[in-house]
Amino acid sequence: MAAHFARARVDLGALSDNARFLKERAGGTPLMGVVKADGYGHGMVPAAHALLAGGATWLGTALIKEGLELRRAGISAPVLSWIIPPGEPVGEAIEAEIDLGVSDMAVLDTIVAQARRLGRAARVQLKADTGLNRGGISPDDWEHVVAAAARAEADGLVKVSGIWSHFACADEPGHPSIAMQLSAFHTALAAVDKAGLEPEVRHIANSAALLTLPEARFDLVRAGIASYGLCPIPDYDVPELRPAMTLESRIALTKRAPAGSGVSYGHHYVTDRETSLALVPLGYADGVPRAATNRGPLLLGGRPRTVAGTVCMDQFVVDVGDDDVSAGEYAVLFGDPSRQPGVPTALDWARVLDTIPYEIVTRISTRVPREYT
Ligand code: PLP
Repeated sequence: MAAHFARARVDLGALSDNARFLKERAGGTPLMGVVKADGYGHGMVPAAHALLAGGATWLGTALIKEGLELRRAGISAPVLSWIIPPGEPVGEAIEAEIDLGVSDMAVLDTIVAQARRLGRAARVQLKADTGLNRGGISPDDWEHVVAAAARAEADGLVKVSGIWSHFACADEPGHPSIAMQLSAFHTALAAVDKAGLEPEVRHIANSAALLTLPEARFDLVRAGIASYGLCPIPDYDVPELRPAMTLESRIALTKRAPAGSGVSYGHHYVTDRETSLALVPLGYADGVPRAATNRGPLLLGGRPRTVAGTVCMDQFVVDVGDDDVSAGEYAVLFGDPSRQPGVPTALDWARVLDTIPYEIVTRISTRVPREYT
C-alpha cells in the first residue's frame, strides 16, 4: 500500500486521561462518553474503548446503527442511542440491550409494538424537552407519555431506565435559560416520581455543564467534545484537557515562485517577493474547510504559517519564504500544543473560521487515515 501523506493521529491515552479528569471534575458522577459521529471524527470504536478505559461507564450515540456497531465490536457497556424516528426498526437494538431515547409518543408506540413482537422489554429513556425546543417530549405532553410508559412498564414491555434532557446554552455560563431548564427538569422528574417510575439514571449535563454546573450532575454526565480534549466554552481554559487528534500531512512538493505570482484557484493570494511555495495534499474533500482560504493556521518548518490562497478539493499551498522546507516534511494543521509547542489547536481553527471545534474535528473525512497511538 502507498504511504499516506496525510493522517489524523489520535492519541488514545489522551482520551483515557480526559475521561479520568472529567469524571473527577464531575465529583465522581458516572460518565457517559459520547461517541456519535464516528467518535467526533476520532474513530468511534477506538474512542469508545479508550474512554471506557479512562473510567467512562456509559456510551452515547445519536443513531441506533452507531449503538449496534459498538455492540458488534464486542462492547457490552450500557449504550444510549437517541435519534429514533417513529417507525424505525428497533428490534435489533432491543435485543442488543441498547437504551432507546424516546422523544415523543409515536416513538414510544414504535418501541412498544416491537417489544411486544419480540416478547421482551425494551430499555427506554424518556427525554424531556426542558427548553432546547429540538428533540424531547414537550412539557404539555410529558405526563401523558410518562403515564403511557408506566403502563408499558407494568405490562413488561419496557423498562424506563432513564429520564434525561439537554441544554441549549450550557456553553454560555450564566445564561438565564440554564436555570430555567434545570427547574423544568426537576418538574419533569417530579412527574416521573408521581407515576411510580424508578429510573436508573437521570441526566442533563453535556461537556459545558459538566465543567461549570455541579447542580446539573444528577446520576450521569454526558461528555462529548471535552472527552476529545476540546473545551466547548469560548475563552474558558481547562488546561487538563488534552486534544486527542493531530491533523498533519507531509509536504508533497516545494517550488520557487517569483514576486507577483498568483497562487491557487482565483489567485486570491499573490506573492509579494520571490519565495518558496509548499504544497499540502489536504483539501476540502478531506475536511479542511474551503473557508480556510488565506486564513487557516498551521505549523511547518518550526514556524506558524497560514494557508496561502484557495483551499482546493485535495490540496492547498503555504508560502514558506526562504525557509528551508522540503518535500516529505510534516505540516501540522492542529494538535496538542502541550506536546508539540507552537501547533495550532482545533479551537484555533474554529475561532479563525467562526465555527465550533465540533465541526472542525467531525468533518475530517474518512479519506484521511486515522493512526492510533
Ligand atoms: N447529549 C446530547 C443529546 C448531544 O446531542 C450531545 C452532542 O451534541 C452531547 C450530549 C454531548 O455534547 P458535548 O459534545 O457538548 O459534550
